[in-house]
Order: sequence, then structure tokens, then C-alpha cells
Amino acid sequence: MSAQNTEFAAPLEALASDGLQPIDALLNDQHPRKLAAKAWAADHLGSAPDDFDRLRWQRAAQAGFLSMVVPTDRGGLGCTLVEAMLSFEGLGAGTSDSGLVYALVSQTFAMQRALVDHGTDKQLDRWLADILAGQSMGGFAMSEPGAGSDISSIQTVAVADNKQTNSWRLTGQKSWVTLGPLADVAIIFASTDPSKGRWGISAFLIETDRPGVQVGESIDRMGLRGAPFGNIALNDVAVTSDDLLGKVGAGASIFAAAVEAERALLYAPQLGATERLLALTIERATTHRAGDRTIGSFQAVSHRIADLKLGLEASRLLAYKAAALADQGSSVTLAAALAKLQTSESAVAGALDAMRVFGAEGYTVGAGIEAELRHAIAGLNFAGTSDIQRNVVAGLLGVDRPRRTQPSDPDAQR
Ligand SMILES: Cc1cc2nc3c(=O)[nH]c(=O)nc-3n(C[C@H](O)[C@H](O)[C@H](O)COP(=O)(O)OP(=O)(O)OC[C@H]3O[C@@H](n4cnc5c(N)ncnc54)[C@H](O)[C@@H]3O)c2cc1C
Repeated sequence: MSAQNTEFAAPLEALASDGLQPIDALLNDQHPRKLAAKAWAADHLGSAPDDFDRLRWQRAAQAGFLSMVVPTDRGGLGCTLVEAMLSFEGLGAGTSDSGLVYALVSQTFAMQRALVDHGTDKQLDRWLADILAGQSMGGFAMSEPGAGSDISSIQTVAVADNKQTNSWRLTGQKSWVTLGPLADVAIIFASTDPSKGRWGISAFLIETDRPGVQVGESIDRMGLRGAPFGNIALNDVAVTSDDLLGKVGAGASIFAAAVEAERALLYAPQLGATERLLALTIERATTHRAGDRTIGSFQAVSHRIADLKLGLEASRLLAYKAAALADQGSSVTLAAALAKLQTSESAVAGALDAMRVFGAEGYTVGAGIEAELRHAIAGLNFAGTSDIQRNVVAGLLGVDRPRRTQPSDPDAQR
């Protein structure tokens, strides 16, 4: 492991697994576990800087936020997903640096999880400890300029190298990779057999200083400034079976498992951020006056706040349900899609409601409300757009297939 910087905060004891019952997390939105993470974030992260700050990342990593769901025999804290969710919810409530928190959660549930679940001992020994300590960063690269929602159309190919067995040459372009511009290593999804569509996709774990790998600059973006994202170009990169993550052709299932976990869990900090926004909005409605009345006494304003609370509570219930189902080993495809859809859409709606309650003040950068809206909008895209979540839900309910009526069918006569 690389040398650690000792100036950082000590591990946060409240992040360790403690036998939390899912129902306790569900029913107590001021659970001590969440409050401990919130207080830590307020003390050690506070408000957001203009850009990603590596020292802040390492501080969070060394407090244990990246280690929560990694098994103890791999150097992690062995937490359940519900436990991790509660801590991440607190992290989101305690700091307005939503970008940094998003990047921590994204790396935890996509890159690290795929690495832990499918990595060989050699791959884990090389990367995991450094990543958990915040010394190295990992990217998870599936999206391409022409393949976001539809992964079966990725164009990055791994062509078998005729000169050597069990080796390929990788060529293609990955886009929007969270932490990509800073990544030391990335999981790259490439087609080893384009004739098989998604079942021909394989995952490779590749260090970003390998010849032929070119990491692009951070792309400027509307929100989440603490979470840089960018392109990764692959130009005839030599890879062998030692670089495979999982088996040949397992890429789509590795991706699907990670994305499902992301859908269920990536929004935990968003719950905390919305809670913060709700508190600010209540404060504004009960103190700001229009004429001789506080604005909260207008039903139009108070109902917006009621809707914000409703959106938050509904999101919380769905998100914890998805995490609890995942912890008990049940399928979470439906629960995760519903949780992602509800949380991301209601975060945007809630931020817009808060903007309205704040009036012109909300439009100023200093009030911090517009930043919440900009961060929330990112959530409509990552881990699959809202349209894709609706497709998943409709598909699981069996309503998305055309059913033809026969001429003799009496229903057809109506
Ligand atoms: C902040 C952020 C971080 C990201 N991080 C990563 C990362 O780390 N790794 C990574 O691989 N990717 C990442 N992405 C990319 C993200 O996964 C894609 O943006 C997302 O999958 C959508 O793909 P797209 O942007 O290409 O949109 P498209 O797929 O081109 O979709 C455009 C529009 O068409 C609609 N549409 C497309 N297909 C359908 C359909 N079948 N049915 C109905 N509507 C449809 C979409 O809903 C959308 O409205 C990130 C994106 C963001 C915003």
C-alpha cells in the first residue's frame, strides 16, 4: 500500500457494522448511525469547494466511507447495504459537497463492488487496499458516445491477438466516466464477440498508464463539481486473461449487478441533501414575510413544503426497501428501478419547489438552493435515465409487449 497521509481524521467508529435491523433504519430518520456520519461530514467536509479536492477524498476514505460494504477479510468494515445507506444518507445531510459524496458512493457501489465480487486475488492485492485508503481511484467505464442506455451497442472491441493465446487488443472510446480523469485503474467493458450482442461483452481491469490508454480532461458540467467525469480512449491496448474481471462474456451481468446496486443505493446521499433542503425551506417559509404575513401561511407555499416532505419520505421508503431486499439476497430489479425513479425525480421536483419558495433569493448563487437543483438534475441520467427505469418497471409488470386481438375475440368487437 502507498504511504498514507497521517494528517487525516481517524476512522469513524460509527461506520463499523453493528447489527442494525433494516426496520430501525426505515423508521428512524434520525438514527444515531446517520447522525454520526452527518456530524463527521459537517466537521470534516462542510461546504463544497469549486472542484474536486483529493485531500477531502482521502479524508473520507480514511474515515472508512469507502470501506463500508467491503468484507472484513478484504480489509473492509463488512457492513450491510442498509447500514452503508444510513451512513451515506448522513454524509449527504452533513455536507453540501454533493459531487464528492456522489463520487464516493459511485466508486463504492459500481467499481469497488465489481472488483471485490469478481477480482482475482492478484487484482485485489494490487488495487483494493490503495483504493480503500483513497490513495488510488477507480473508474467504471461502460458508456460510449453512441451507447448509453443501450449497452448492447457498445463499439469498444477486444480483438483476439493472433500472435498470443488468451490475449486481445482493445480499441474504443468510453465517455462520462465518473472519476475517469483521475482514475489510476478502470473497469473497461468491451465486446470480445460482437455477434453475441450484450452476451459478448467482457470486463477488463486496466491501469490507466498502460500504453494505448488515454484519459481525457475533466469535462465541465452543470453540477456535482466534486465528481469529475470524462472520456477514456483505448487505442490498440494489449490485454491478457490476467486483466479479465470475471469470465469472458460475463461483462453484461457484472455491469447489470453493479448498476442495480447503484440504482438502489446511489441516492442515499440525495435523501440527506433533500432533508437539508427541506429544513432550509421550512426556515425560509416561517421567517420570510410578504407584507405582514410569513409566506408559509399561504397555502400555495405550505403545500409545496408538504410535497417536498412527501417526496422525501416516499424516496426513503423505496430506497431502504431496495437495500434491505438486496441484503437478504432477493432480486432488487423492480425495487431498485422504482427507488431510482422516485428519488431522482422527486429530488428535482423538490429543488424546484424550494427555488419557488425562496423567490429571487433562491436564484442567487449565494443562497445555495440553485446548486441543489443542478446536482439533482444529474441524477436523471446516471445509473439509467427515468425512461429506462419506467421501461424496466413496465417490463417486469408485463405490460410492455404488444398483444394482438383476434377478429373472433369478443373484446375486439367493442
Ligand atoms: C453525472 C454522471 C455520471 C456518469 N457516470 C458514468 C460512469 O461512471 N460510467 C459510465 O459508464 N457512464 C456514466 N454516465 C453515463 C450515464 O450512464 C448515461 O448518461 C446514461 O446511461 C444515459 O445514456 P446517454 O447519456 O447516452 O443517453 P441516451 O441513451 O442517448 O438517451 C437520450 C434520451 O433518449 C431516451 N432513451 C434512450 N433509449 C430509450 C429507450 N429504450 N426507451 C425510452 N427512452 C429511451 C433516454 O431516456 C434519454 O432521454 C454518467 C452520467 C452522468 C450524468
